[in-house]
Amino acid sequence: MERIVEIEKIQFDNEYENSLRPKSWSDYIGQDKVKKNLQVFIEASKKRGESLDHVLFFGPPGLGKTTLAHLIAAEMSVSIKMTAAPMIEKSGDLAAILTNLQEGDVLFIDEIHRLSPAIEEVLYPAMEDFRLDIIIGSGPAAQTIKIDLPRFTLIGATTRAGMISAPLRDRFGMHFRLQFYTCDELAKIIQKASLKLNFACKEDAAAEMAKRCRGTPRIALRLLKRVRDFAQIHNEEFISKGRAKYGLDELGVDEQGFDEMDIRFLNILLNSKGRPIGLSTIAAALSEDEGTVEDVIEPYLIATGYIERTARGRIATPKCYEMFKLSPLNTGLFEGSDD
Ligand code: ADP
Repeated sequence: MERIVEIEKIQFDNEYENSLRPKSWSDYIGQDKVKKNLQVFIEASKKRGESLDHVLFFGPPGLGKTTLAHLIAAEMSVSIKMTAAPMIEKSGDLAAILTNLQEGDVLFIDEIHRLSPAIEEVLYPAMEDFRLDIIIGSGPAAQTIKIDLPRFTLIGATTRAGMISAPLRDRFGMHFRLQFYTCDELAKIIQKASLKLNFACKEDAAAEMAKRCRGTPRIALRLLKRVRDFAQIHNEEFISKGRAKYGLDELGVDEQGFDEMDIRFLNILLNSKGRPIGLSTIAAALSEDEGTVEDVIEPYLIATGYIERTARGRIATPKCYEMFKLSPLNTGLFEGSDD
């Protein structure tokens, strides 16, 4: 089943996404602290005439990590080479990428937590000393050849802060964690995108979509695209609040932005009668892999306070019981919940 609030990039129309990708800092809404710090560090390295230190972005998919990498490269006036860790299978793959970089270039590696330990070993001297150590042959006859690399900036992105190895993490000079966006920020993103699409979206319609996109710009843009389809089919020239509501309901996105998968997840916890449920049990019940549950489904439910992670598993919070119009059970898990 395709989730309308699915966050993974794979299923999203990439051309559409690229055409809406902010090209300047003023187009990049929200994440103010990250933006402010990055601008200072970029300015300083430009003043020194040096390449920017390596940057690591953490955060759930669709929050703007790739976009920030593009903005950094544009601001530094350098090219950006994009790849993802699963595409780097052998150390030779990484060597080929690194030796093709020009002075100052940005190398963006998505899902960097998925690099194998052998590849990480090749990356360390490249990041630290801009040097590639290639071992030729094996056993006593093995030889190490050292190749100097241009000074480059590695930008790593990961959805799993906990999965990235400590030595790799420590080699990044800057770490930034991206946050879910507020409704106001998302409404601005939707309105800016609608202008780029030449299809106006009323303020209250943008606010309606913003409420239902799980705090994630990628989902906001996808909802905008689908709602625009509904408006066009009805020969309308702009998106009204009524049409937005109609479209979102048709798409099965509820008032909180929850889709069927979120609701099934929450139901598992509500049905457990307050007993914490482990990740593997939840993943099996949803027929999803644990990574997707942890990276894609859970972060928003945690950030909005509907579930909690405890040492013994996941539990539904009183807010969640309230949403489903249930009384929190007398489990002793929540203070003041013994009604
Ligand atoms: P990630 O790399 O974190 O998965 P992306 O950078 O690919 O996310 O962002 C997904 C889409 O959302 C992009 O096409 C971009 O247009 C939009 N987007 C992300 N962050 C912002 C933002 N802060 N302001 C405006 N649009 C954004």
